[in-house]
Amino acid sequence: MATAEYDVIIIGGGINGAATAAAVAARGYRTLVLERDDFASGTTSASTKLIHGGLRYLETGDARLVHESLQSRERLLRERPHLVRPMGFILPVYEGDPRPSWYIRTGLALYDLLSPRKVSPWHSSFSERELHRFEPAVSTERIKAAYLYHDAQVWSPERLTLEYLAQARASGADLRNHAPVDFIIVDGGRARGVDFHDALTGRRSTASARLVINAAGPWVDAVLDATGRAMRRRVGGTRGSHLVVDLDGRGPRHAVLASAKSDGRPMFITPWLDHHIIGTTDVRDDEDPSGVRAAGWEIDYLVAEAARILPGVGVEHRNVLYAYSGVRPLARAGEGVFEGAISRKSIIADHSSDGVQQLISIVGGKLTTAAELGRKVTEAVASMIGRPRARGIAALPAIPSSRAAFLLPDTQEHLRTVYGLRAPQVAAYTAADPSLARPISDHHRDIGAQVAYGVDHEGARTVADVLLRRTVVGLTKDLGRSAARSTSEIMGNRLGWSEDQRAQAVRDYFVEIHRRFVILQDGTQPPPSEQLTEDSA
Ligand SMILES: Cc1cc2nc3c(=O)[nH]c(=O)nc-3n(C[C@H](O)[C@H](O)[C@H](O)COP(=O)(O)OP(=O)(O)OC[C@H]3O[C@@H](n4cnc5c(N)ncnc54)[C@H](O)[C@@H]3O)c2cc1C
Repeated sequence: MATAEYDVIIIGGGINGAATAAAVAARGYRTLVLERDDFASGTTSASTKLIHGGLRYLETGDARLVHESLQSRERLLRERPHLVRPMGFILPVYEGDPRPSWYIRTGLALYDLLSPRKVSPWHSSFSERELHRFEPAVSTERIKAAYLYHDAQVWSPERLTLEYLAQARASGADLRNHAPVDFIIVDGGRARGVDFHDALTGRRSTASARLVINAAGPWVDAVLDATGRAMRRRVGGTRGSHLVVDLDGRGPRHAVLASAKSDGRPMFITPWLDHHIIGTTDVRDDEDPSGVRAAGWEIDYLVAEAARILPGVGVEHRNVLYAYSGVRPLARAGEGVFEGAISRKSIIADHSSDGVQQLISIVGGKLTTAAELGRKVTEAVASMIGRPRARGIAALPAIPSSRAAFLLPDTQEHLRTVYGLRAPQVAAYTAADPSLARPISDHHRDIGAQVAYGVDHEGARTVADVLLRRTVVGLTKDLGRSAARSTSEIMGNRLGWSEDQRAQAVRDYFVEIHRRFVILQDGTQPPPSEQLTEDSA
């Protein structure tokens, strides 16, 4: 059994663990991140993908949270423009809506005032005719008012997480995915380290640290159980489900935020890549978050409400590619508190009060505020264990100049959109092997070089790691089924897979997408030839 020594071990490689790792490692602490499944495969992959202040949190009196989130939004728009893009939101108010138009207008004015130095325009209003011209997809029947305000979208929260992890690695952090923590070692009332194993090889290891950070999102309480002690419960999750729909180019060009007719809940319809995302629900869920799936009624509810808001578009079950769900890792609220009213604030819990020192948990947080939360956690780390032990910080990996000038301009632009300044590193793979310049799917522009880069530099070890989190191929039209084989071939060449292992990797991918998503559209079935090859293998 191997043992390694760190200043800080972070359990959980979602966006909060990743952003915390980036901040803690940059401060010079020797850091290890252990992720049970793949980086960003938990709640981080199940959000509405908004980078926002959270207009509706004004209703719960969280103006400070909104202000902080708006500042984080502006920072992300400035610092990660390839991943985070401004997005206009249309907010129609209909007769019978729970929130009258004066109330919405006041909320939008406050939302603008809480972000005085923002780059996007302040909110404005539409007449019925203006709305129809601006966004004909949105219903104007029984409309009382309509507004336009601006927030942002991160088109891949998974890639944002990987960028935080790349920062952490550049500062010398060790990152391990497919590495579940089995036990938190507590000795003399202090957390001393963890036992973990490699889920793909079974190899067991121990790592020691001066501080353990539990960033396991909705699994925070399950990880606390790994101390073997009775600890106070911290998380009371609520499930949120979304639909990814293919509206054949008829969907709205702008995002829409409207009140659901049946229960008055706010509901988003956002353009995303070639599709639209409709969400979300908010249902108390005490089941194991690993098995979270959308219930039939959630899908019916989201389809019906979206069809009402977009009457000419024809939103129906047959447009739904798949439904995905996640559990919001919210601070535990008392029974009887309305789900939407549970605070979205994050908490850094010190478990000295539970009798275990040098162990903290991160509860809550948002994609939008993860970097800020990471900085706050770093302050807590400094106050608990003092300054880092002196050591050299690993040099940033050099970014080679692109030797792949033959890449089509569209592909080069695509790589810049995905990797920002790292794009030349990915493009360089196609100079060594021109076959890696080909797209891996008919439905998306991601190319073979991204698979190779994902394996070599981003810790991808399964086909799902590549298709669902290093690229977005598995989240679009055919859920990556037609790309699974070519992806497994590129991966197999680099990882030394046998033909049996390669075929198994494809089968595992098919199992994974059915476990993770409720798949509705027939068009997502694999082409008959692929099905035959892989099923019979
Ligand atoms: C429906 C929904 C919509 C949302 N929409 C938005 C939005 O639009 N904008 C926004 O800013 N935020 C949004 N959020 C919130 C945001 O997605 C989450 O707060 C955030 O992703 C939480 O990240 P995390 O890293 O704390 O948790 P996670 O992403 O869940 O990461 C925790 C990780 O810990 C790992 N883990 C668990 N147990 C172990 C173990 N024993 N060993 C090692 N690793 C372990 C898990 O595998 C997981 O990857 C939304 C959330 C939901 C559910």
